[in-house]
Amino acid sequence: MNNALILIIEDEPEIAEIIEAYFAREGFRVITAGDGPLGLAHHHRLRPDLVVLDIKLPGLDGYEVLAAIRRRGDTPVIMVTALAEDLDKLQALRIGADDYVVKPFNPLEIVARAKAVLRRTVGRSGGHVLRVGPLVVDPQAYRAAVDNEAGSVTLDLTRTEFRILAHMAASPDRAFERSELVDACLPESEALDRTVDSHVSNLRRKLAGAGADGLLVGVRGVGYRLDSSHGR
Ligand code: CA
Repeated sequence: MNNALILIIEDEPEIAEIIEAYFAREGFRVITAGDGPLGLAHHHRLRPDLVVLDIKLPGLDGYEVLAAIRRRGDTPVIMVTALAEDLDKLQALRIGADDYVVKPFNPLEIVARAKAVLRRTVGRSGGHVLRVGPLVVDPQAYRAAVDNEAGSVTLDLTRTEFRILAHMAASPDRAFERSELVDACLPESEALDRTVDSHVSNLRRKLAGAGADGLLVGVRGVGYRLDSSHGR
């Protein structure tokens, strides 16, 4: 769970930095956005596991961002609100936030709340099983398998390999840039494009071993995609 990707949408850089530091210290991967539109763009592109969302934001405010996130799915959201905004808090929960914290807050409290929300919502957005050709990915069970004539072969994947595969399987046929896979799937310590290449190379070998050779293909000048027509 601490490998989860947290998106912080907060326009005050000092506050964003503090929250980021506390999450990073616990091993979470973090990406930040200083306004509503950029936050939504990150949400769309990177599919974070949880969003920490300030209410007073330039561009789009927190309520508008939350509404847009909810139109797309169930990503857990923790709203950050100022002390005198009790009504706002209630409104946030009513329109679909999972929790809220009040400014000024103890950053440890946000991390604790996030962990609680993640425990509660694990698999909620990714709970359905993803299928791409013969590939079956169950994000909730952290299980990936290939169906072939012999039956179902479970892939023995590292955590990062699984994240890459699950991330790609959510959008079959879409070409993913290496940089996107780095941001969405790799821990900070190995965030390099060439590291993605080595994980993908291992994935391809394991897929081939299970009978799905050629399912994960390179896209010249871009990165990689999963071929949904594989085996047809
Ligand atoms: Ca603000």
